[in-house]
Amino acid sequence: MQAQIIAVGSELLTPARLDTNSLFLTERLGRRGVDVVRKVVVGDDEARIAREVRRAREEARLVIVTGGLGPTLDDLSRDGVAEALGKPLIEHPEILEWIAERFARHGRKMTDNNRRQALILEGAEILANPNGTAPGQYYRDEAGIVILLPGPPRELRPMFLNECEPRLDLLPSPLRYYTASLRIAGMGESDVDQRIGPIYSAEPRAVTTILAAPGEIQLHVRGQAATEEEARAIADAVAEKVAAELGDRVYTRVNEPIEQVIGDLLRSRGLQLGLAESCTGGLLAEKITEIPGSSDYFAGGFVSYSERAKIEWLGVSAATIAEYGAVSEECAREMAERARDHAGGAGKAVGVSVTGFAGPEGGTEAAPVGTIFIGLADGGETVVRKLSLGKERDRNRELSARSALDLLRRRLLGL
Ligand code: AMP
Ligand code: MG
Repeated sequence: MQAQIIAVGSELLTPARLDTNSLFLTERLGRRGVDVVRKVVVGDDEARIAREVRRAREEARLVIVTGGLGPTLDDLSRDGVAEALGKPLIEHPEILEWIAERFARHGRKMTDNNRRQALILEGAEILANPNGTAPGQYYRDEAGIVILLPGPPRELRPMFLNECEPRLDLLPSPLRYYTASLRIAGMGESDVDQRIGPIYSAEPRAVTTILAAPGEIQLHVRGQAATEEEARAIADAVAEKVAAELGDRVYTRVNEPIEQVIGDLLRSRGLQLGLAESCTGGLLAEKITEIPGSSDYFAGGFVSYSERAKIEWLGVSAATIAEYGAVSEECAREMAERARDHAGGAGKAVGVSVTGFAGPEGGTEAAPVGTIFIGLADGGETVVRKLSLGKERDRNRELSARSALDLLRRRLLGL
């Protein structure tokens, strides 16, 4: 099935607000094999909304309109859709009562404009909105389905999950879908594509998407077939071949973040993690602690940004910094070893360090902007990896943190 999304709201046409609802909807629809073939953003204008709905219905069986269901005069989605479908809006007494009760419960007086939220398209089903006043609407005829959803993401999301997906499940669908996901560290997008392109393009029953972010690539393989088992077999077979081709660059086949993979490894090996961060300023610690339960294995970290902090807090020798500088292999090595020692020492802990010039200004002749050293110290030999990145500060920091995570993962796996 194909879908179109119409995001209604004049604010979405300004730089102040972005349409994020369609991203959520596209992701959810993609899981059940519904392709979003077009999406538009339209201001609060009844005639324009009606025109977009008519046009969308000509091209797709499913049309989702988000936003414009509030009580104010600029909330015109109901009117626009009614006009497009040639159906009247009918005031629904039960909803009116429900809205009035909601106002009473919050100790507020219901103003007259709120009555507009009880207007329902003739023939539409009402979608409950436990998180707001405006109900959603689900309309179906021989031309297809039109769904009206409220704009606020915290209202739209649960409504789509709880009210729309069960309805979409009931539709007769000739095909079933299953998505297998892989995540890859330490490779660039074009590298990945060059190596796996021949694998996934040989399987026409699967659609493969590559999502690249700094330091990480996600691969989604969606198989389609008459039954879910077949769809799964198709997707898994492609994923299997990709994993075999990329080897240990694939860090998960169940779509977990690398921080989770690392956390599980540390926990199972009974190791504590200590960090010594300079140019990432705590970004690595932030990533590690995103995982619930990370207190099991994360001892703590130093944001040792100044030379003084590296020496006095962490314990790097002043002589090392004087001789080689703070951005050096030697400093990264000592930072990792001191972080390990503070976290419990060799055999009990792993220390990871990051020091470098994130840019955009600064650097030295020996270590220009983008030079980053990542250190890792455990019971064995301390390793330091050097990165030579560009001049974009945010990207450098993100890539440094990601490389450090991957270095740690590989060490824990003995790679
Ligand atoms: P509305 O339902 O048009 O009254 O929208 C209410 C709120 O939801 C506004 O603050 C909007 O900024 C937000 N909103 C509306 N549409 C979207 C959208 N497509 N994506 C994200 N937020 C939205
Ligand atoms: Mg609006």
